[in-house]
Amino acid sequence: MYFDFHTHKSSSNPSVFNIRLGHEQNASPANPFYSVGIHPWDVDNIDVEAQLILLRQELEKKKIIALGEIGLDKVFGTNLVLQQHVFDKQIEIANEYHRKVLIIHCVKSYEEILKARQKAGKNQIWVLHGFNGGEALIKQLVKANFYFSIGATLFNPKSRLVKNLQFIPPERLFLETDDSNLSIKQVFDQFALLRKMDSASIQQQIRSNLTDVFGDIAEVT
Ligand SMILES: [Zn+2]
Repeated sequence: MYFDFHTHKSSSNPSVFNIRLGHEQNASPANPFYSVGIHPWDVDNIDVEAQLILLRQELEKKKIIALGEIGLDKVFGTNLVLQQHVFDKQIEIANEYHRKVLIIHCVKSYEEILKARQKAGKNQIWVLHGFNGGEALIKQLVKANFYFSIGATLFNPKSRLVKNLQFIPPERLFLETDDSNLSIKQVFDQFALLRKMDSASIQQQIRSNLTDVFGDIAEVT
């Protein structure tokens, strides 16, 4: 099974479709699972308090298995104070609604993300999506209990991620297509090629990671 941990595309394949609140209205995509959250890119252009209410309503739905993508981005240009406020609120809401998996968008904000992670407590599971980073950062994040979801960066041989891929523990790994035009099978094949592993064992590893993170939903997939 090629499980796509984070995608913006409608597909009936085993995948988590990301709903970006206040940004896009997708007419019921076919994906078996969803994540929902307020993206840091959108905070300046939406009514934040209204979207936080909407988030609570969305979390009543069964197919919503994670909060995301949420986080901090110091490059995009939206108000950083507001980003932090919206991020903190969503961490609280995740606890309130017993959604323990958070899909994190982080650009040049690791210090703040690590601080927030520590504050959030051990009950939550944080998955850094679109991850790209070197050995020291990976080790620091592993120690802080992060998971990693990776995708298109695997196709850039000059990236820090590709050069340091061996430091990502297999039991903390997910693969994703995000907003790329890649198929999830291509991402699995590329990971297998780089790590000199066979695709079947990666699929098995990710299935086991899904069970660790989501418990019984893995049975559905
Ligand atoms: Zn995304």
